[in-house]
Amino acid sequence: MLDRKFILQNIELVADNCERRGVSCDVSQISQLETQRLEKLQLAQELNRQANEISKQIPKASDAEERNALIEKGRQLRQEKDDAQKTCDELDQTILEIQTLIPNLTHADAPTGGEDNAKELGFGKTAKPGFDFQPLDHLQLGEKHDLFDFEGGARVAGAGFYFLRNAAVRLDLALQQFAINFLCERGFTPVATPDVALTEVLKGTGFNPRGPETQIYSIENTELNLVATAEITLGGMMSGQTVSASELPIKVCGLSHCFRTEAGAAGRASKGLYRVHQFTKVEMFAFTLPDQSAAIHEEMRSLECELFDALEIPYRVVDTASGDLGGPAYRKYDLEAWMPGRGEGGQWGEVTSTSNCTDYQARRLNVRYKIDGEKGTHFLHTLNGTAVATGRAMIAILENHQRADGTISVPQVLRPFVGSDTIGG
Ligand code: AMP
Repeated sequence: MLDRKFILQNIELVADNCERRGVSCDVSQISQLETQRLEKLQLAQELNRQANEISKQIPKASDAEERNALIEKGRQLRQEKDDAQKTCDELDQTILEIQTLIPNLTHADAPTGGEDNAKELGFGKTAKPGFDFQPLDHLQLGEKHDLFDFEGGARVAGAGFYFLRNAAVRLDLALQQFAINFLCERGFTPVATPDVALTEVLKGTGFNPRGPETQIYSIENTELNLVATAEITLGGMMSGQTVSASELPIKVCGLSHCFRTEAGAAGRASKGLYRVHQFTKVEMFAFTLPDQSAAIHEEMRSLECELFDALEIPYRVVDTASGDLGGPAYRKYDLEAWMPGRGEGGQWGEVTSTSNCTDYQARRLNVRYKIDGEKGTHFLHTLNGTAVATGRAMIAILENHQRADGTISVPQVLRPFVGSDTIGG
């Protein structure tokens, strides 16, 4: 969420930014509502002052009649004050609701436009495979090696859920272990997070648990929701906390299941594991000082590259365009892996994304830092980045590492965890 004072002082800039990001929001309405709120606040304060004045006069009343009249007048004034305060609070709430619809500001270098306007920044170390046979897609490979059961998943939980089987289970666990070890060696503290979070935490991290566009499964008659990403739990973990500046940056990597309704996703290239309702993810998250966040964003991007290079997966890096950033991100980089079985003859498919959310989440979650020896507290910056989302990483491994005989070579770094160097054969 942007600072209200900043919005009021920069209405035009904020409205232009909404337009650039394709968010329809009447920013100027905030200005009118704030004027009305301040009028009501002043009225409530004045009525309160008058009521207090009357209270002081009551003991000095000359007779019972005057005393009763003063009591009645005081009662009326307090009632009017309560009414003005109630309207003031309602206006405050309406402003807050609009405020939460306003996205973060956008980095000047982020391309403008939608999904197709992402800017290619570079490629990974592994080249696209040049098969001299007709490659299979991950579903065909799964069938060959008994790796997935989508029919069983649908019987249990509906379409979009699945069972992993045999080597797919080991590969899934291997990816998690490899990513966690990789990040621990680079200064991240590992945490296994809850798979549910309170509505207020979701809102704080910029996820809307209700409404037509929501990606969130909510648990009926409770304030709990299944998390779409550990970004929610890792950000929420520090809500309401103030840390010393000397403790920053705090870098954690969280392991969680992720649940997504994928509302509105029908028809988008989403075969098999690509777009499912549940998957497992190792997520990087950082709390930083404002002047550290740009460098840590680059670090997260380069860790993602290192990880996918180690997995021997061909990928490209893209700078996400303004209309595809989501509410909280100031800038976002994605890694897109080459998936030979996607579309006709292969396609790039997003496997990671890392966002610098500046102080947007921290303000709503109320996470602050304090400089030792100085007065006051400030909002810190938050960043998140996918280390590995196991489903899509598995697609890239199976489809890129398949051999002519139908077996699949397990990437070197995963072999100790999978317990073999080949799937099948
Ligand atoms: P996001 O939190 O939306 O940036 O997604 C992080 C990563 O999770 C993506 O880069 C994908 O690798 C993976 N992912 C997102 N949505 C799905 C889904 N519905 N099914 C499988 N993987 C997903």
